[in-house]
Amino acid sequence: MARTYAVTGSASGIGATTARILTERGERVIGIDLKNADVEADLSTAEGRADAAARVIELTGGTIDGVIACAGISAPIPKTISVNYFGVTELLTALLPALAKSEAPRAAVVSSMASLQSNSSELVEAALDGDEQKALSIAADLAEQGPQVGYLVYPSSKRALSRWVRRQSVTPEWAGAGIPLNAVAPGTVITPMTADLLRTPEGAAMVDKNVPMPLNSHQPPESIANLLIWLTGMENTHLAGQVIYDDGGADASLRGDDIWSWNDKA
Ligand code: NAD
Repeated sequence: MARTYAVTGSASGIGATTARILTERGERVIGIDLKNADVEADLSTAEGRADAAARVIELTGGTIDGVIACAGISAPIPKTISVNYFGVTELLTALLPALAKSEAPRAAVVSSMASLQSNSSELVEAALDGDEQKALSIAADLAEQGPQVGYLVYPSSKRALSRWVRRQSVTPEWAGAGIPLNAVAPGTVITPMTADLLRTPEGAAMVDKNVPMPLNSHQPPESIANLLIWLTGMENTHLAGQVIYDDGGADASLRGDDIWSWNDKA
């Protein structure tokens, strides 16, 4: 039987590719985006998120099998924390009751390998505390210092999102309700978000310096979409709380071979 999915960012890039593949497989997809979507809503505001959730619930009749959150922006501006963190976490939380009604509910979000880069711990903590006003004010302060400092908003939004996924995934509301919750962290994906950066050799070289991808270099959106679809499909029964670096080897290049020593005795 067809499963019903809500996919954010469905009008472009990774979200559009995910929605297309799901539809081709015969699943029902409700796309959410600013425009050109079944549900047109602005996920940068609390009202937009509440409105999006209400309309998705109305369109589905109250039961959702999968939520895939792809919508995001990368600009060095305060809004980036609102879309990338609160636009994901608040929407997922609002859709949780509808997910819980499914016989095989799943959720996955798109983080980024940028979650491994320098970030503002103050901004990350404000986001994890659920304090959007404080997060926006910290992000505004960073943005006012110019793009060299303002760029920190994006990696901070993704670090906070990855941490939220790990925290929430094991709670009674998610794991306890039988709902796997995971994140995919891409490297450099060929989408409208990166088109300008990758257009010139200088831009591409700058990206590659920060995001080394020894396996097959820049990736097509399908490489992320197919993993999101597996994570939210019936076959995923036990994978929870993971941030999967689907990034051409960027994580392994940057963090090296030991990410397990957190509990080793000295
Ligand atoms: P994209 O720009 O092609 O698509 C993003 C979509 O999100 C757009 O359709 C846009 O309209 C939508 N969106 C933006 N703000 C919104 C808002 N306020 N409300 C509702 N929808 C909104 O970008 P993409 O490359 O497909 O990015 C998808 C996700 O992948 C993002 O979260 C991005 O941070 C993440 N990501 C991308 C890359 C990359 O290299 N492209 C790398 C790592 C992570």
